[in-house]
Amino acid sequence: MSGDRVRIANFIDGKMRPPGMGRYLEVYEPATGQVYAEAPDSTDADLELAVESARNAFPDWSHAPAEHRAAILRKVADGILRRAPALARAETVDNGKPIALSEDLDIPRAAANLQFFAAAASQFASEAHLTDPTTINYTLRQPIGVVGCISPWNLPLYLFTWKVAPALAAGNCVIGKPSEVTPMTASMFAEICADAGLPPGVLNVLHGSGPGIGQAIVEHPEIRAISFTGGTRTGARLAGSAAPLFKKLSLELGGKNPSLVFEDCDRRRALDGVMRAAYANQGQICLCGSRILVQRSIYEEFRDELVSRIEGLRVGDPLDRETQQGAVVSAAHFESILDRIRVAREEGGKILCGGRPAVPGSPRCKAGWFIEPTLIEGLGPHCSTNQEEIFGPVATIAPFEDEDEAVTLANCTRYGLASALWSRDVDQCHRVAGKLQSGLVWINCWMVRDLRTPMGGVKDSGVGREGGMEAMRFFTEAKNVCINTG
Ligand code: NAD
Repeated sequence: MSGDRVRIANFIDGKMRPPGMGRYLEVYEPATGQVYAEAPDSTDADLELAVESARNAFPDWSHAPAEHRAAILRKVADGILRRAPALARAETVDNGKPIALSEDLDIPRAAANLQFFAAAASQFASEAHLTDPTTINYTLRQPIGVVGCISPWNLPLYLFTWKVAPALAAGNCVIGKPSEVTPMTASMFAEICADAGLPPGVLNVLHGSGPGIGQAIVEHPEIRAISFTGGTRTGARLAGSAAPLFKKLSLELGGKNPSLVFEDCDRRRALDGVMRAAYANQGQICLCGSRILVQRSIYEEFRDELVSRIEGLRVGDPLDRETQQGAVVSAAHFESILDRIRVAREEGGKILCGGRPAVPGSPRCKAGWFIEPTLIEGLGPHCSTNQEEIFGPVATIAPFEDEDEAVTLANCTRYGLASALWSRDVDQCHRVAGKLQSGLVWINCWMVRDLRTPMGGVKDSGVGREGGMEAMRFFTEAKNVCINTG
């Protein structure tokens, strides 16, 4: 603690360490708008210590039997589950998300990531080819060495562990950098890893700014792969720095995802799904469906029903289990979302509901960053509101005539992360899924995740895939070994 602020430390070589230069960044609680913690503003000197420690740890960790690594990852998962209430509370304080979401989704999923990749360590296989009777080719998959994992603020521990777990399972040593906006649970995770017996240096967690320590990680010559999740602009910058160094790169970037509602859908399921897709986590999930497209024959009825449901969403103190909409993550993001709503009005959009800062009942939240869930109508597909990622509780709604127009509208952005469609016509679902330009398509559901499936986007939504064995392949180099026995 520094004053009444919690002081977060880096995790280097198995120990909590203050940043070498002694500089810290302020960390805010979005629900109150107040600083409640500070996190290291790490520098190159901190990174050098972390890389040295990771380099030293790599031979033993990479040569350990897969089952040994798996056993430690399972202990980490157990540690997350044991501390789940504290982690969920910390995530909500740090991020502003409803505690129900932290308790039911973020923290259980972080434990599931560790459990899943513990199992993957023992299930990971590679190919062998009998070329002729005396020649065998096989693929040796070896860990890369020291790798960097850089994650965003929207699902802090969920996405941090989604990268770190496969990297460790495959035998790498990791320099992890959580978002400076939400550093708390990554720090608690480091403690859990130490308690679980993860050897010093296998995971190092460095806190600090993106342009500072984030960029230094990307540029460090000994860090041979970067797994990044964040904004498209940051991803482009990162690719520009990493490509000349020939690093392996996985980029999970932004989205502007469509939700398509066809006239024959199950109306109740579609309304539930479309609403959750648009406003879960205050619209701050890369997979959120922020462009709602509804077949004209049911458009008005669907729209009116949706508006009445949105108006019923409970915006409130994120620490209250009844709250459905918490705070958005920062003052800058709050301003940027409100600015986007202003632009939508200027572009001719009609605000059907929301459109303003929200005032939750709790006095402790009076200076927090809350925005009413907002639905906007009357905008064409090419305006900036329908083209740029807002990443807040703001969605647009528009009608389409037929399947062809639905697909054209769905595909007309530079992004291609996820799509969702609601229809009872299985032929139509299959046809449309094939035509949508996105890495994921949900049919009659949204954000149902199976950790074995590939996760990632096309177009400006990224390069590469995470998830399942795709992640294990990313975190290993394939070496062809050819044996001639003749
Ligand atoms: P961001 O790009 O600002 O930051 C992401 C991370 O990158 C942070 O840790 C940040 O410190 C770091 N960073 C920033 N500049 C850097 C640089 N020059 N070099 C290295 N690291 C740098 O994104 P954000 O605002 O934290 O997150 C929101 C964005 O993330 C949205 O665009 C959202 O769509 C995207 N996102 C994508 C996925 C996906 O799976 N595709 C998942 C979640 C979020």
